[in-house]
Amino acid sequence: MEMTGLQIFKYLPAAKKEEHTNCKECGCPTCMAFALKLAKQNIQIDKCPYVKEELKEQYSHCIKHAQNTVTIGNLKIGGENVLYRHEKTFINRTVLAVCVDCLKPDFEKQIKRICDFEIKGVNENYSVDLIILKNCQNNGYSGENPKFITYEDYQKFELDTIIDTDFQKTKDYLITTRTKAVKEKDESCVKPVTVWIKSGNLYDICARASYYICKYANMIVFEDFEEAMFSTIIRLRENIFTDPQKPLQVESALYEFNNPDENSIVFLTTNFALTYFAVANELEGINVPAYLIVIPADGMSVLTAWSAEKFTADIVAKTLINLGIREKIKTRKIIIPGLLAHMTEELKEAIPDYDFVVGTNEASDLREFIKNFTAK
Ligand code: SF4
Repeated sequence: MEMTGLQIFKYLPAAKKEEHTNCKECGCPTCMAFALKLAKQNIQIDKCPYVKEELKEQYSHCIKHAQNTVTIGNLKIGGENVLYRHEKTFINRTVLAVCVDCLKPDFEKQIKRICDFEIKGVNENYSVDLIILKNCQNNGYSGENPKFITYEDYQKFELDTIIDTDFQKTKDYLITTRTKAVKEKDESCVKPVTVWIKSGNLYDICARASYYICKYANMIVFEDFEEAMFSTIIRLRENIFTDPQKPLQVESALYEFNNPDENSIVFLTTNFALTYFAVANELEGINVPAYLIVIPADGMSVLTAWSAEKFTADIVAKTLINLGIREKIKTRKIIIPGLLAHMTEELKEAIPDYDFVVGTNEASDLREFIKNFTAK
């Protein structure tokens, strides 16, 4: 049983009317805000120095993970607590590994192919997580590179490995094991589960792996490697393992389009991924050299960020300094989203050496806007 925010609150200084009530040392405005965050496991309990042992004990008992977490290099495997991500979130994405047999004549070529494989994501690039070397005879691959592990070392980890000989059996095993771990806290089901998929037809492997990622493989080991197959399952995995409670966001940065120079046109928006990509796709397509300044706004869209005070003149001013915009760009006109037209005066007041021009409400109207715009 998990603790609710109210149950946690009862143990905090504010509920007991003690010293330190709402002292903000935890970074939350009130003890109640801390309690609500803690109930969602969005903050560490030790952020409040005044939490009593009694609460610590109860809380740690409640948040005990259904599954163990196994760490291989920088990879975390398992540690899941729920059956469906909308209940809370999945914690560690399914680790995707390839087993390479070093007795095969072309094994070095295969390793190179695996290592060369990379696909671009919103904030990170993805590749094969781990390479397991079978019959490895000191050929220089194991050791320092965290991507490599010998088969013998892999076997030492506390993982529950199922060989995928029959789809129905593997599927039932994965579902039963996770359900028992989560619902019944069954101690015999706490090991993260690895599915080992034998060499075979790539379409079949891709279909099986896709299912096992959804339900509930903590790790999958493949004996085959093929770029299209891995691209597909990595994309699927990233969709399953995004946290539905956290908006997808891009990094706050100065982005360049079509080789801009210091006099090019400058746009500004928030770091909500959908907003960024809508604007970025238009700018790329219009083929005009341009900059896009992305403000850190906790991944909120333009109007939401403004109403949550995540898009203020102060934040814009700080971002211009942090990103070194004055040094990098001579243009002193910045185009703000049309939805923030009401902020123009406030921005000009806070940042007097810039001219803030109201742009469009929709990214799709940028082409027409740029036709009639002069940057200088
Ligand atoms: Fe309350 Fe503790 Fe946060 Fe202070 S640090 S506001 S006492 S929860």
